[in-house]
Amino acid sequence: MAKKSARKKVSGSAKPSVQKALAKAKKGSAAKVKPAPKRQQADLKASHGVSKPMTAAQIQEAFRRWEAANPEPTTELTYTNPFTLLVAVVLSAQATDAGVNKATPALFALADTPAKMAALGEDRIRDLIKTIGLFRTKAKNVAMLAHILVSQHGGQVPRTREALEALPGVGRKTANVVLNTAFGEHTIAVDTHIFRVGNRTGMAPGKTVNDVEMKLEQVIPPEYKRHAHHWLILHGRYTCIARKPLCERCVIADLCQWPGKTVM
Ligand code: SF4
Repeated sequence: MAKKSARKKVSGSAKPSVQKALAKAKKGSAAKVKPAPKRQQADLKASHGVSKPMTAAQIQEAFRRWEAANPEPTTELTYTNPFTLLVAVVLSAQATDAGVNKATPALFALADTPAKMAALGEDRIRDLIKTIGLFRTKAKNVAMLAHILVSQHGGQVPRTREALEALPGVGRKTANVVLNTAFGEHTIAVDTHIFRVGNRTGMAPGKTVNDVEMKLEQVIPPEYKRHAHHWLILHGRYTCIARKPLCERCVIADLCQWPGKTVM
């Protein structure tokens, strides 16, 4: 209920420019994508971090529109507490969220705390997650990280990057997702989607994920930092998709600097 009224409030108070962009995207008349060879050329340039940068005003406007369209974005992974979120993110490496969500209900029904997961043991975990890619390594990591949380962190998920990154199977990206989604920190976990969006749009051109992460941290207005990670990832996953982005349905088409599209 509270979510509904917040959404209504943001859309209702949106500026005319925002409303116009949302309406165009809804109609499918925001921009046209160029033929495949031109798109590929544009993507090649973008992946080398040489896109034309967006201005600060354009970046502010892009987040204003994403917020108007989706005021409370969140992860698509199913979880019930910081520990199940951590496990779900570890399991999602090189796998889809949908695939992880199919396996985790049975796992979390048996073990939704580090103590229960440690007691479940690697063999049983492996059995429960065998539909997920790299399940053998992931089962080992989940069992080990549960033991470490019990023995070194009082059965809690730590709130610092250093402690998170010291856990097996947890890298910078996973730590950033947990810090942002479970603890509300203003972190951005740059994955393949955010890397693409940062480069194509010109919001944060960079050759490596670290370059893009650092640029995003510098350019995202403070009021949007809490949810920026999810807006960017959802935009990359559903609109600015890799092969043929849906520019005609994109709410930031007129702000995006990607030369592979033409604004209508
Ligand atoms: S951000 Fe929008 S306009 Fe730009 S490439 Fe992606 S989908 Fe197309």
